[in-house]
Amino acid sequence: MTLDDCRRLDAQDTLAPLRNQFILPEGVIYLDGNSLGVLPKAVPERIAAVIAQEWGEGLIRSWNSAGWFDLPQRLGDKVARLIGASPGEVVCTDSTSINLYKVLFAALSQVLQAREAATGGNDKRRVVLSERSNFPTDLYIAESLCRERGFSLRLVDVSELSTALTDEVAVLMLTHVNYRTGAMHDMEAVTTAAHAVGALTVWDLAHSAGAVPVALNDSNADYAIGCGYKYLNGGPGAPAFVWVHARHASQFQQPLSGWWGHAAPFEFTPHYRPAAGVARYLCGTQPIIALVALECGLDTVLAADSFSGGLGSMAVLRRKSLALTDAFIALVEARCPGRFSLITPRDHLLRGSQVCLALSDGGPGAYAIVQALIARGVIGDFRAGDSQMPDILRFGFTPLYLGFEDVWNAVEHIVQVVEREEWKRPEFNQKLAVT
Ligand SMILES: *Cc1c(COP(=O)(O)O)cnc(C)c1O
Repeated sequence: MTLDDCRRLDAQDTLAPLRNQFILPEGVIYLDGNSLGVLPKAVPERIAAVIAQEWGEGLIRSWNSAGWFDLPQRLGDKVARLIGASPGEVVCTDSTSINLYKVLFAALSQVLQAREAATGGNDKRRVVLSERSNFPTDLYIAESLCRERGFSLRLVDVSELSTALTDEVAVLMLTHVNYRTGAMHDMEAVTTAAHAVGALTVWDLAHSAGAVPVALNDSNADYAIGCGYKYLNGGPGAPAFVWVHARHASQFQQPLSGWWGHAAPFEFTPHYRPAAGVARYLCGTQPIIALVALECGLDTVLAADSFSGGLGSMAVLRRKSLALTDAFIALVEARCPGRFSLITPRDHLLRGSQVCLALSDGGPGAYAIVQALIARGVIGDFRAGDSQMPDILRFGFTPLYLGFEDVWNAVEHIVQVVEREEWKRPEFNQKLAVT
């Protein structure tokens, strides 16, 4: 693949105009949209209007007149289109960590209720199963919930998952696309296997929503959550989302039973009565300004719909994402032979929208290479290894605003950083707080 090939691919790219929706700093090749999506152009103006008119002029009337009250549901319906859910099944609210707490609590409550109802009792179903390499916050939340509710958290490698799925498992809690490796689960197959042993599934879609097609209802999943500030471009700390399958919608228990999840919050009654459906997963008053920014982010992804020839946003974004990651892998391997090993699966069916590399010689330097690249305007990130996993250079590919020439240029910078040993400079070897 040559620079001309990349330019030709850009010229043929029907999604190229989507880049105009964003404010991208001059000279930056942004390969970190999997960690924090870029700023949509619509945000500054929209937020300014919310502040000046809706807050400044409308004041408290805006809960009704500006549609503030319905924002979590309205945005939830937009998210639903990206994750294979139906309208009314998703709300945007709280953070991913907090939403995980809520859905895992609900799933464990369901298991405990079933245990009480069963005359014979199925007491051995006491395990929450997850991957050792799952995102830490997911594991920390599960750890404390298991302790609180009398379950134990069992962590296995991905290769051990199928044998670990036994009738002791109450809940299988997985992140669909692994944050560190970029490996993707087959949601439908894994969910079917979990159901076969009587376990419920909780899916974290933090690296999936807006990145890869997700089919929650078709996969027959039970619970899902996901992040608003990664591929959905909702801004730092944007509200996250929650989905619950319709078959659980009237049963699930919200542990944070605040008034926004009440059936009639403005009756101000002294006792909690949960709202119907997923609305009960709201807790308290929502961050309206942050929700408005998230809506702008969601709209940047949904905008791909009109370029999709009826296939839908995620189908065409996925096609471009795979072409971008294929090109990056091919160029790194051709131009830095032997230098890096590929951690992300080559198989399209197993790959998310990022590419992770490790140093082939196992030596240090991954962090410093990432820092040297950032100094050149190629922004990726670094994830420290452990006894099981090498240090990783992580590059996220967002087809909304990246092109093939960007991929070429990013690899050119990698070649130069490595060949000139630029990464050995002391300034690139000092650890910052956020990597
Ligand atoms: C990014 C990410 C989170 C983030 O959680 P916050 O509550 O937003 O800090 C959680 N889980 C996974 C798998 C993630 O990738």
